[in-house]
Amino acid sequence: MKSRPAMGLAAALVLALTWAPTPRAAGPTPARSINISYEVDDRVELLSAVVMLAAPQLFAEQFHGRTPAYALDAARHFSPMSRHPAVSRMSRWVLAGKAGITPAQILLQVSAVPALEEGLAMRHFGQPEATAFLEELRDFAVRSEFRRFFDSHRATYAGYVAQARGESRDALTPEGLSAYLKLPFSSRYRFILAPLLPSVFASNLSDKEQELRIRPAIYSKENMHFGFEEFESSVVHDLMHTITVPLNAALGKDLPRYDALWVSCSNPSNCLDEQVVLAVTRRRFEQESGEDSAEAFARYKENGFSHVQALCERLKEYERPGSPYSNFSDFYPRLISVFREAFERRPRKTTRRESK
Ligand SMILES: [Zn+2]
Repeated sequence: MKSRPAMGLAAALVLALTWAPTPRAAGPTPARSINISYEVDDRVELLSAVVMLAAPQLFAEQFHGRTPAYALDAARHFSPMSRHPAVSRMSRWVLAGKAGITPAQILLQVSAVPALEEGLAMRHFGQPEATAFLEELRDFAVRSEFRRFFDSHRATYAGYVAQARGESRDALTPEGLSAYLKLPFSSRYRFILAPLLPSVFASNLSDKEQELRIRPAIYSKENMHFGFEEFESSVVHDLMHTITVPLNAALGKDLPRYDALWVSCSNPSNCLDEQVVLAVTRRRFEQESGEDSAEAFARYKENGFSHVQALCERLKEYERPGSPYSNFSDFYPRLISVFREAFERRPRKTTRRESK
């Protein structure tokens, strides 16, 4: 288990996503086994090919000068398609700042290539525009012989899956976290590895049966990885958000929105949630490893997450034998009162007239 992130917290947080709350039954439920899969998905690879042609600069930048053989193959195979309507539409979206999570989520809501059939519960921006895009993608897939390309890279995909599994090997287990929370996770998580998709397309989708995650690869001058080995972008970190987001949604207007506390956060809208997730996973790490977190707390503080240490202290109330809390949800209002207390203690600005 590795605590110190090699890529740095800020980069790890690039993987922080927009979370859709999933309703959950109340009350304690025993930990059950959680099915986690890592896959390369034809819909996401099709999207990557279109993005490659539509936004060549965005596409190339992610490799930091070490373009992988797979990307070179994709460029060779798909470059004759650069004037296709799907590519033109994606270019317009990228220019208008509309690319990113939405096109990725559209793809997650349709069936495999080349049918790309829309499910009944499809929800996304501008339905007619999305429908037109899917129509173009179907045509792109057929004309580009996408299936031949995808099938000829099965061994490459198996390598990516093996790498993702390896990265997660030494991490905290979801079962251990579920036992700590006395809450269940969804039974099925599918991490879709996206070796060619720029990180702005990272996205996720929850439905009744499963949680889907698109996890773009991270390239540096030295290597490529999917970030699962890093504490702040590990599988348990990701899963923990699926617990806190509905809890925050349930608190609604009672949730402390103390903007003054988030001034130094890189993403203020997610700052409360992120700190709770960091604190819970940090406590689990301390319990498993026996290591202290002083260095991690200092690092979080540098990134504007100043309350993680206080949250960890508060979690000890929940962990105490004989604590009155039946599970983490039960304890949650008490945990996030840490923010109210910090808000009340914050140094007040004295308003005084400046004399010239
Ligand atoms: Zn996070």
